[in-house]
Amino acid sequence: MPDSPLPSPVVQGSTLERQLAAQRAQRAADPLLSLIVPVFNEEESIDIFLGAVTPLLERHRLRFEIVFVNDGSRDNTLGHLLDCSARDRRIRIVNLSRNFGKEAALTAGIDHARGDVLIPMDIDLQDPPELIEPFIVRWREGYDIVYGVRSARTWDTTAKRLSAGWFYRVFNSMSPVRIPANVGDFRLIDRRAIEVLRQLPERNRFMKGLFAWVGFNAIGVPYERPQRVAGSSKFNLWRLWNFALDGVVSFSTVPLRASFYGGLAIAAVAVLYALFIVGRVLLFGIDTPGYASLIIVVLLMGAIQLVSIGIIGEYLGRLFLEVKARPIYVIEGVYEEGAVRFPSSATKPT
Ligand code: UDP
Ligand code: MG
Repeated sequence: MPDSPLPSPVVQGSTLERQLAAQRAQRAADPLLSLIVPVFNEEESIDIFLGAVTPLLERHRLRFEIVFVNDGSRDNTLGHLLDCSARDRRIRIVNLSRNFGKEAALTAGIDHARGDVLIPMDIDLQDPPELIEPFIVRWREGYDIVYGVRSARTWDTTAKRLSAGWFYRVFNSMSPVRIPANVGDFRLIDRRAIEVLRQLPERNRFMKGLFAWVGFNAIGVPYERPQRVAGSSKFNLWRLWNFALDGVVSFSTVPLRASFYGGLAIAAVAVLYALFIVGRVLLFGIDTPGYASLIIVVLLMGAIQLVSIGIIGEYLGRLFLEVKARPIYVIEGVYEEGAVRFPSSATKPT
């Protein structure tokens, strides 16, 4: 029998099993869990969130800290968080100097977490805390990343559902790094994957893509995404579109290549058309009409050139941001154990 080019599923399975067993042996019996919660104008949600999460973690006898990252809220979010952290020492607050966006806030939280395992969570309870337990079970089995898969998006608008579906299809067809569909930032990440993540220097932080880029053994746990408990979504359609564009452009150069091949294809058509016209003139004499075809070609070429320049511009703009190498976030202060700790460096974890 000829050798099969692919390893059989059994061998693959046992390789995975061996890797998992090796990790399992390393797992701490009583790991410290860090919840990373970015917040932007969420004063109504804080009590509801803590009321749901704290008792649940205590019931499961989990050792934990909650790292809130205040992303430049303009309401009383910070004041409210300070009251909470005065009552509960497990609550720490990283206060950013202004609104930097959710991805930057998550990065700040990840840099300041002390846990053996990290779980980024939205404060609106759309990431159900009941999933933490099953996440930990999978982590104990040896998986490094355990992500929540949204099995139903009942509460999302049709526009958001459709656009999300398209986004995953387009992203995965273009990017060498695959991101699983319907997976958000809600996931458990082991410390060793976090250490890799922290070494990625890019300013444009499309976290879902970066989590996937890191690799390691990952597994999904399905859940139904509930409605926001209080307040309103901070992402409108325009912000989501920009987010999607950031994602594709920072993980794929296919659009650049596509405009190159598009140009080649049109050049080929133009050459054929030119041969046709020259041939016609040679055979049948000069033919003046042709305004319609001329204007169509001019407009089409102009449009294609503008789109291609626009695509180059998208990459150049990002290159510009990366080259400037400004920090991803700026910290106003870190508040913990009832005191403010002003960081010695406002941009690097101390
Ligand atoms: N968020 C943030 N900075 C922002 C926007 C949002 O830290 O600029 C936080 C927000 O407070 C929440 C999480 O990111 O904890 C998810 O936001 P939201 O629920 O509005 O997003 P959606 O669930 O609608 O996608
Ligand atoms: Mg939400």
